[in-house]
Amino acid sequence: MSKIVGVLALQGDFKEHIEALNEVEGVEARPVKTKEQIAQCDALVIPGGESTTIGKLMERFGLDEPIREMAAQGKPIWGTCAGMIVLAKEIVESDQWRLGLMDITVERNAFGRQVDSFETDLDVKGIDEPVHAIFIRAPYVREVCEECGVDVLATFEDKIVLCRQGNLLASAFHPELTDDRRIQEYFLSMIEE
Ligand code: GLN
Repeated sequence: MSKIVGVLALQGDFKEHIEALNEVEGVEARPVKTKEQIAQCDALVIPGGESTTIGKLMERFGLDEPIREMAAQGKPIWGTCAGMIVLAKEIVESDQWRLGLMDITVERNAFGRQVDSFETDLDVKGIDEPVHAIFIRAPYVREVCEECGVDVLATFEDKIVLCRQGNLLASAFHPELTDDRRIQEYFLSMIEE
């Protein structure tokens, strides 16, 4: 039986996520935007895009409750970039709407306006060879609550760019935009745990 992975399809690069996830064997990735669709999933991805827009739409369509429920059931949820911002409890100098499920503090557009986007190779805890990472107006994680069980999986120039708290995963970069599926596979392995 394939694992059903929902990709929140309100705004942002959900199509790229769906295509990338569908390349992994045993996965059926699909766009989700209703409570019923979310309830059918074994795992959920919140894509990159614009975190204020995604947050507003999530609230407007009442999707925060079913997503919180998923998290409480222990189903894996992965936020990339804007998705990471929406997952965070604290956002530096912002009162924008958020799910606030992860005990992390994120800073938006953290690499400066001049450096709109860049690529680099990252050492990722639990993955052997470096992972090529694409950053686009990326946030970073300024602080994590270690006592709360947040595990730092990758940093770039001392900035945290990949971390995990139980069934929740947050990446500042976009693994859906490269050909490498190891981060997707890592996330999918969280379903089995
Ligand atoms: N800067 C965007 C935000 O704050 C995130 C960018 C992205 O998702 N690529 O929402």
